[in-house]
Formats: sequence, C-alpha cells, structure tokens
Amino acid sequence: MNARLLIGLYLAVVLLPLVLSALGARPPRSVADELAAGAGMLAYAILLTEFLLSGRFRTVSRQIGIDITMRFHQLLARSAVVLALLHPFGYRNPSMGFDLSALATGIIAWALLALLFLMAIFRDRSDLRHESWRLLHGIGAAVIAGLVLHHVLYAGSLAQDPVLAALWIGLFAVAVLSLVFIYAIKPVLKRLRPWQVDSVRQIAERTWELTLAPRGHAGLRYRSGQFAWISVGRSAISLNDNPFSIASAPGSGDRLQFVIKELGDFTRTLGQIAPGTRADVDGPHGNMVITGRDAPGIAMIAGGVGIAPILSILRQLRLEDDLRPTLLLYGNRNADQIVYRDELDTLAREHGTRVVHALYEPPEDWDGYHGMCDAALIRKVVTQPEMRQWLYILCGPPAMMDSAERTLINLGVPALNIISERFKYD
Ligand SMILES: Cc1cc2nc3c(=O)[nH]c(=O)nc-3n(C[C@H](O)[C@H](O)[C@H](O)COP(=O)(O)OP(=O)(O)OC[C@H]3O[C@@H](n4cnc5c(N)ncnc54)[C@H](O)[C@@H]3O)c2cc1C
Repeated sequence: MNARLLIGLYLAVVLLPLVLSALGARPPRSVADELAAGAGMLAYAILLTEFLLSGRFRTVSRQIGIDITMRFHQLLARSAVVLALLHPFGYRNPSMGFDLSALATGIIAWALLALLFLMAIFRDRSDLRHESWRLLHGIGAAVIAGLVLHHVLYAGSLAQDPVLAALWIGLFAVAVLSLVFIYAIKPVLKRLRPWQVDSVRQIAERTWELTLAPRGHAGLRYRSGQFAWISVGRSAISLNDNPFSIASAPGSGDRLQFVIKELGDFTRTLGQIAPGTRADVDGPHGNMVITGRDAPGIAMIAGGVGIAPILSILRQLRLEDDLRPTLLLYGNRNADQIVYRDELDTLAREHGTRVVHALYEPPEDWDGYHGMCDAALIRKVVTQPEMRQWLYILCGPPAMMDSAERTLINLGVPALNIISERFKYD
C-alpha cells in the first residue's frame, strides 16, 4: 500500500462518521449544536484510528516512516483532545438535555482524556518508567474509547441511526483488535521465530554492540536503514521491547547487529547479558532506506549512536560495490565515542567514502574537524553544485538533525532528497 493511498484511507475513515451523520434524517438543530456534535464525532474517530498509528504496524511505518507516523500520532492526538474538550461546551440545546446520568460515561471519558493528555505532556518530567507509561497510555486510551462508545450509543442524538452505530462499533472493534494483535498475537508470533544473543561487546564509551542470531529459522528480511523492536532475556510481550536500528548489512548474513548507547533500564544492563540468552525481534520497521531512491551520490550525517542505521547503509553499499560517491559526516563529543573507526578507515580507503569526523571535545593531537556536525561543517563539505541532487540521510540528536536539515535546504537541496529518523519522540 503506498503512502498516498494510506493517507486517503485514513481521511475516509475519520470523515465517514461525519458524512453519514450529515446524510442521515434527523430533526433540525442549531448550528452550535451541529458543530459541537461534529467536534465530538471527529475527536472520537481520530482517537480510534490512533491505535493504528502507534508505530507498531509495519504497513504504516514502512510507507511513511516511523518519524512521520509518530508525529501524526501526536498531532492528531492533540487535535482530538482539543475537539473533545470543546465538544460539551458547544451545545446550546442538546437533544438528550443535560441529564447527568445519561452523560456519565461521556463525562468520565472527558476527564480521563484530559488526564491522559497531561500525562503525555509531562511524561519526561515524571519518574514513571517508560514501560509503565506505555501500559498506562494503551490501557487509558482503550478505556476512554470504551466509555465514549457507550456515550455515543446511549446518550447521543445519533444513537438511533443504526448505520452510524454499526460504524462506531466496527471502528471500536478494530481499535481493540489492534491492541490484541500487538500485545497477544505478536508475542506468540515472535516466540515461533526465536533469536538468541550471539555476542555483546563494548565498542565505545557507554556504547555496546549486540549481535543476535536466529534460532532455527532463516532470520529477518530487511533493508539497510530499518529498525526492529527487540527484547532480550525478557518475556516476548510487546511492553518489554525497545526500538533499535539494525547496523548490520542485509547482505552480510542472517545475524543482526545493533549499536546501542546506554540510556535507561534496558540499555544499562547490556554488559550483563550472556551469549545464548533468548531474544525476540519484531521487524523490520521504518523507511529510512535508500532502495528505490535514485541519486547520483549519498551523503550521511550521523551524530553519536545515530551512526547505527548509517553503518548498515554504508556496509550494504560496499557489499553491492555501489560506485556512487559517498560522504559521511560523523559527529561525537570525544574520540572515545567513535565506533568502528578502523572499519570506517577501510571504507574510506577501499570504497572511496569520504569520512569526516567531527569532535567538539577533541584530543590535543586531533587533526579532524573541531566542532559539531553543524551548519559550518556542512557548508564546508557540500560545495559542488551537483551535490544538491544527492540523497542526504540524517540520524542523530534532534538539534543536530534540525540544523542539518535547515542548512541543506538553504544550500538548495530539495526536501525530498533528505531522509531522517529520530531516536526520540518529543
Ligand atoms: C526508530 C528508533 C531507532 C532507534 N535506534 C537506536 C539505536 O540504534 N541505538 C540506540 O542506542 N538507541 C536507539 N534508539 C533509542 C532507544 O530505543 C532507546 O534509547 C531505548 O529504548 C532506551 O531503553 P531503556 O530501557 O534503556 O531506557 P528507558 O529507561 O526505558 O527510557 C529512557 C528514555 O528512552 C526513551 N525511550 C525508551 N523506550 C523507548 C521507546 N520504546 N521508544 C522511544 N523512546 C524510548 C524515552 O524517552 C525514555 O525516557 C532508537 C529509537 C527509535 C525510536
């Protein structure tokens, strides 16, 4: 399914309840009441489709990428919350009156939605573990969706319309089934294709290389630049997994290699993981891939552990003997954070990749670039006019990516030639 079709399908689903209600025969009511009802319906349709935009469905993230999927998820959630919060205040003369007992489920859902929204906004400032947050977010959204369904079917003036009622029940069922698929069916499917830890080794300051091997199956078919949700030594349930870019090249065999920086609960325990430990892999996800994108050259801008998907792309280009010119700008704080330095040197020597290291706390004898992968460095290396037609791949800290993207666009690189992936959603 291509991206346009996906967006068209999304709009059709979200707008269908509004269209059906406009076509249905009902007693006339004031414009304010129509707008209030419309806001409520739109909010509920958006809320129900949010379950499919959770970043766990490959059909979605493979087409539009995980960044866009999650940005849509957040933007649409905010729109749904605004519409839902406005919904009760718009009414002047609601058909079911102001009977609180008839409105109870709607009122509870409204308050829970406001709470869920505040939790999402302040989650980084709370002490809540990421896994607990995900559980609360999923369960909270499902409870709200159930309460609103009751509200729509028993308190709404549209409840008498059987077609609309069937549509709401159908959309609610799809939302619930998507949770069942992620949290019950996917773990079983993962258990049928088990993996195990092949090796774990520290390759730089607070940075580990984790290699997984398939146990009794052919492994994963992926494209370089994609990522997978993995869990190691824990239950296969999807709450326990974390997303990591695949750093190995698809053409290099059935093992999957990851480059992982210590950050929190799971990543800080990497050093204690023993070879042979059972692992689960859900993937491949994402579309930061170069296949199908013709470009006369490829430039990659990586910051820190953002090198992971870029390594996969560079390794695959080398395996395929791709003769297009390649450039890598690789930024780190200090020299101890650079990973696979020898391999990058070999790549420069044998494959002709121009590798530019940037350090903003360099050692005294450093002869590379002093600073970050910033606008100044990009302007220094992207000099030839033909480089405007190249493909640019960005992965690293959000500030670096924003600045790199702005600089490239100012240099005349078309936005469509820039692809990127963020490791964190804000
Ligand atoms: C598409 C993608 C690819 C990634 N690739 C890599 C990679 O190749 N190498 C690497 O080191 N890191 C990568 N990350 C980041 C990595 O997923 C987090 O660092 C990791 O999940 C933290 O897990 P933890 O249990 O150690 O931390 P936790 O204690 O669970 O959380 C610490 C912080 O990490 C973030 N985080 C945790 N889990 C997730 C999650 N499931 N989704 C998004 N953010 C999360 C949250 O902001 C949280 O506050 C990637 C992230 C994404 C979204």
